[in-house]
Amino acid sequence: MNIKNTQAFGAESPVAPLKELTIQRRETTATDVEIDILFCGVCHSDLHTVRNDWGGTKYTTVPGHEIVGKVISVGEKVSKFKIGDLVGVGCIVDSCRECASCKQDLEQYCIPGFTGTYNGTDKHLGGHTFGGYSERVVVDEHFVLSVPENLDLAAVAPILCAGVTTWSPLKHWNVKEGSKVAVVGLGGLGHMAIKLAKALGAHVTLFSRTPDKEKDALELGADQVIISTEDAQMAKVKGTFDLIIDTVPYVHDVNHYIPTLTISGTIVLVGYLGPLDPMLNTVPMILGRKSVAGSVIGGIAETQELLDFCGKHRITSEIELIKMQDINEAFERMLKSDVKYRFVIDMASLKKG
Ligand code: NAP
Ligand code: ZN
Repeated sequence: MNIKNTQAFGAESPVAPLKELTIQRRETTATDVEIDILFCGVCHSDLHTVRNDWGGTKYTTVPGHEIVGKVISVGEKVSKFKIGDLVGVGCIVDSCRECASCKQDLEQYCIPGFTGTYNGTDKHLGGHTFGGYSERVVVDEHFVLSVPENLDLAAVAPILCAGVTTWSPLKHWNVKEGSKVAVVGLGGLGHMAIKLAKALGAHVTLFSRTPDKEKDALELGADQVIISTEDAQMAKVKGTFDLIIDTVPYVHDVNHYIPTLTISGTIVLVGYLGPLDPMLNTVPMILGRKSVAGSVIGGIAETQELLDFCGKHRITSEIELIKMQDINEAFERMLKSDVKYRFVIDMASLKKG
């Protein structure tokens, strides 16, 4: 198979800073789309992967799964896209397309496992996949999304992961006009969750540890902010929420939020991956028919549905545009929750060298 060298930014080990390097991309096959990457969002999962927080990171790692760009070439069987189209790629670049999950447009739950945009198994070249902190990417058209033309392109990028990761549970748990939704943590995922829940007609509450974020949360569409470390504020919302979306990236006490669910309410964990500490106490779950659930990103059709919804409702992410060369500092700031509310890399900075 023919390959093309591509400039990228990646890390050689969990403790190495990201730096410029050269990776290889395949030439387009019949069903592939080649994309010139214009912007790429910076997800906390990029940081978890580079630092090997979850184990299993394959080095050299090139993160980035909130990709927007322009189509620069297409394979001869591509029917959905043409050169010049504005497109996006999220967290999935392949799946088996045959299992029960794939047949229901739930590629994120592909039974043999979906191929991640980075750190996945590259079925074409061998080795592992490389993400969007790079000049170009080649992706099968099934996993490429159409981007609405009426939105700021850089601010669209985070919809591809932060957006759909919160949209999918909002839809699955049937959030609608009048639903009571709370979001834990005002970061990349959290701020998209507020905007999307609000656009669906929900009454939205933010749980945050950071009192300074209150004003922003209200401007983003939250109806109220509860400082989660203040017992009196927590008591005020006891028995309130139909759905809580918990975006906190590190281990924390999930029991703390369960009393704020209504009877039959659900807290869905989308952030922290791993065993809970302290453990869950089943008593309030059993006595209130409350659920603790999890959810991962969203399927391709669902991501397109969200992009179209965002185009219609003029929803984008709040971003801080950075140069590729500033990524190491951006990771440090993300660790301190110092980002309003998503870093997006202007990929022109990489191309200029
Ligand atoms: P982020 O921008 O860093 O935001 C996380 C927010 O959580 C922070 O702004 C902070 O909000 C709060 N927080 C951080 N550390 C905390 C701690 N130790 N205890 C309590 N609260 C804390 O991260 P993100 O990009 O939104 O990602 C959030 C998590 O979701 C990451 O773990 C990421 O890997 C994961 N993720 C999962 C999926 C999925 O499919 N399930 C997809 C994408 C990302 P406050 O200051 O308001 O408290
Ligand atoms: Zn992500």
